[in-house]
Amino acid sequence: MKVFHSPAHTQHAPPFEIFDGGEKITNFEMPERMERILSALRTDGRYEIVPPEDFGLAPIRAVHDRGYLDFLRTAFDEWLAEPTDYERIALLPATFPLPGPRGHVPTTLLGRAGYYMSDLSAPIVAGTYPAALASANCALSGAKFISLSAHPFPSADNPIRASAPHPLTAFALCRPPGHHAGRANCAGYCYLNNAAVAAHWLTQFGTVAILDIDYHAGNGTQDIFYERADVLTLSIHADPDFEYPYYAGYADQTGAGAGLGFHQNYPLPLGTDDAAYLDTLAKAIERITVYSPQSLVVSAGMDIYGDDPLGRIRVTREGIRQIGQAIAGLKLPTLVVMEGGYNNEALGLNVCAFLEAFHQ
Ligand SMILES: [Zn+2]
Repeated sequence: MKVFHSPAHTQHAPPFEIFDGGEKITNFEMPERMERILSALRTDGRYEIVPPEDFGLAPIRAVHDRGYLDFLRTAFDEWLAEPTDYERIALLPATFPLPGPRGHVPTTLLGRAGYYMSDLSAPIVAGTYPAALASANCALSGAKFISLSAHPFPSADNPIRASAPHPLTAFALCRPPGHHAGRANCAGYCYLNNAAVAAHWLTQFGTVAILDIDYHAGNGTQDIFYERADVLTLSIHADPDFEYPYYAGYADQTGAGAGLGFHQNYPLPLGTDDAAYLDTLAKAIERITVYSPQSLVVSAGMDIYGDDPLGRIRVTREGIRQIGQAIAGLKLPTLVVMEGGYNNEALGLNVCAFLEAFHQ
């Protein structure tokens, strides 16, 4: 299986985040996560790990706000240029806009930080922007690869499709992750919504479904596609009534305008086990079957694992394997995009368990 991965992710290594209640802790979303996964993939031996192609900014601008992207690109250098005398390692805001119309973008750096940064777990460091771009390019490269088996698809001079009559799968080993990043904000370790960028790119070939199985609601993806019918977005996650991101991911949020009915959240109670999770997954898979998309993007977070430090449901590694099996059973061209997962000891084997059924 093709795995798209860039070592550029190491440029993004925030030393801390501000956790619940204001606790300053080591950032859970650390570069070591990738090393653990790469090690497991290499040990397995059935993965071809390749660098991404550079798609430029156009496919990213297609889903993200221009002002937000400019902020992400320049914020850290602007901060360093300001005449302050405190140590500047990781930029975080101290203010946030109230709900309601957000028409006025402040001109000051700290004003824009609050405007574009939605919480205290997505600090911007010196290498955040290039790492986020490389991560999005991993997803785009995977999308391009699987598109070679999408239907209908430009079939002229397409050697891979000719040699791969079955739907293709690719794994975008993305870091930083993306599914909490909305159209104009970073949040929850996420800066560019890799799955959304890839899914939008894939719509040039037809409809797309995004299935988000990360433990946390895919609120950024929900935001980006909420009024669109050409991308069905489904998210299975811990009930936001007790879990981050708290303000999105509820079952009654089902899209708006042209997108009404094309978003579905499946909130799970505390302690959900394999059987209950798989029952919920079956409902989401039924929705995808009815929608009949040309391709599928999976936001794959391994923080559903029972021993994840940030998770509070009880899915086992065998459960993760069965989740992968059920999704692979759709037999769609499928791009698996790495999202969360913070039990570093277990992360590599959990990813391999999830991908097992996609081997052809
Ligand atoms: Zn998560």
